[in-house]
Amino acid sequence: MENKNSREKIKALECNTCRKLYFPPKYHCSQCDKSDFSEINLEGEGKVYSFTVIRMPFEEFVEEAPYTFAEVALDEGLVVPGRFTNEDEKDIKINARVSFVRYDSGVNWFKIR
Ligand SMILES: [Zn+2]
Repeated sequence: MENKNSREKIKALECNTCRKLYFPPKYHCSQCDKSDFSEINLEGEGKVYSFTVIRMPFEEFVEEAPYTFAEVALDEGLVVPGRFTNEDEKDIKINARVSFVRYDSGVNWFKIR
């Protein structure tokens, strides 16, 4: 189901002048200082850049702990925060290939391939 809090593509902003990508959105390009952006859909393919197992989360996530919180380096060159839909500690490694699954309530969900 598609609504404003849930979507199936990972979106970023692309500077219309120098093509630098941003996630989350910015209002000024730090590279060329322009503020003219287009919203683009990223492929969502990438690899695990770093990760942490969260054992003592914020109160609203207590029932989900422990869970893995990662930074994913997308093939387009951005690093974005995310969690995994198929969480199995033995498969979560630096440089493991992942694919974006969905964005839901502020979280980017990725699948380990
Ligand atoms: Zn720029």
